[in-house]
Amino acid sequence: MDSLNLSISYEPARQRRPQFWRLAMRCAQIAGTVDVAFFALFLALGSPILAWVNVVSVAMYAGAYYALKYRINKIAVVLIWAEVLSHAALGIILIGWESGFHYYLLMFIPAICVSAGRRWAIYALLTLWGYYVALDALMWFIEPLQPIPESALHIVHLFNLSVVFAMFSYLASYYLRMVVSAQRKLRDMATTDPLTGLFNRRHMTYLAQNELARFQRSGHPVGFLLLDIDHFKAINDSFGHEAGDRALIVVADTIREELRAQDLVGRWGGEEFLAILPETDSEKARASAGRIRKAFLAKDWKEMTGIPVDMTISIGVSELRAGDDLSSAVSRADTALYRSKSSGRNRVELETA
Ligand code: GH3
Ligand code: MG
Ligand code: MG
Repeated sequence: MDSLNLSISYEPARQRRPQFWRLAMRCAQIAGTVDVAFFALFLALGSPILAWVNVVSVAMYAGAYYALKYRINKIAVVLIWAEVLSHAALGIILIGWESGFHYYLLMFIPAICVSAGRRWAIYALLTLWGYYVALDALMWFIEPLQPIPESALHIVHLFNLSVVFAMFSYLASYYLRMVVSAQRKLRDMATTDPLTGLFNRRHMTYLAQNELARFQRSGHPVGFLLLDIDHFKAINDSFGHEAGDRALIVVADTIREELRAQDLVGRWGGEEFLAILPETDSEKARASAGRIRKAFLAKDWKEMTGIPVDMTISIGVSELRAGDDLSSAVSRADTALYRSKSSGRNRVELETA
């Protein structure tokens, strides 16, 4: 039933496929412009009937454009179909098959495939094919009603061929851009934590596996920091969850700012963060952790978050060892973190040998 949404329940369809409807608006704009050019072309070629057909076409495309703009997609779809089908038929019956007006019908093939469910796409494609073949067959038996000179027919053919060629190229590249941007959005959604913009736990696990493999190949050191905000529950309890969320964003930015571009930072749990530092032994990792801890102390938290509490952070540090997997490296950082919590918080502790 999916394709029926094109013509029946247009509002949900628009919400579901906003890019498709944006593309339809663009097509209506381009096709209307092309028809203005046609108007001039047919006047120049001495075929006023076809010139005035194009005035009606421009009006239909303008109607479709505004229908799409105001989300009355049903009317837009009807207008666009009616325009293309009748324009192709009129052009062919009036000046002949060689005019190439039938090429425009082919533009519906990708549109149908993109917008309709499978069953309806098959019906629509068969109908379109039948219409195309019927026009072709009709022209075997009848002569064009308003023939134009052969040289003019060649010009019209070339014009139509070029317009369809250009529109197909434009639509294909526009569609590709849409797909690429949708893929990028999906990838971002799958890999980042929506609140802080840091990598999420799942993606950090994936990235950690890569670092682990690199470590096993090269033996270059990899540092791990496990960071946990001190007494964060009290912030939520005193100032509300929303204030806590605002604080988490500033915390994430602070951690990110103090690390290098190649360091990987993710939200590991509620108010707990994991950083993986390539090419960094535990001493250097401890220095980085120290920088982060000090950055917390230097921050004007009231100004940044509206919460009149100076937040601090405790950090456990470890370094990948031969035979490690992700959980053993994180677990040693966790033990170090636990030590920094139990010895007073706002500290950096290194794993034990
Ligand atoms: P400690 O110094 O021992 O780490 O104490 P803590 O209060 O920071 O630790 P605890 O584990 O007791 O509490 C963590 C709190 O973090 C509890 C939870 O409500 C809060 N939290 C976790 N995720 C979120 C979040 O996404 N937003 C907000 N606002 N709070 C969160
Ligand atoms: Mg905490
Ligand atoms: Mg915690």
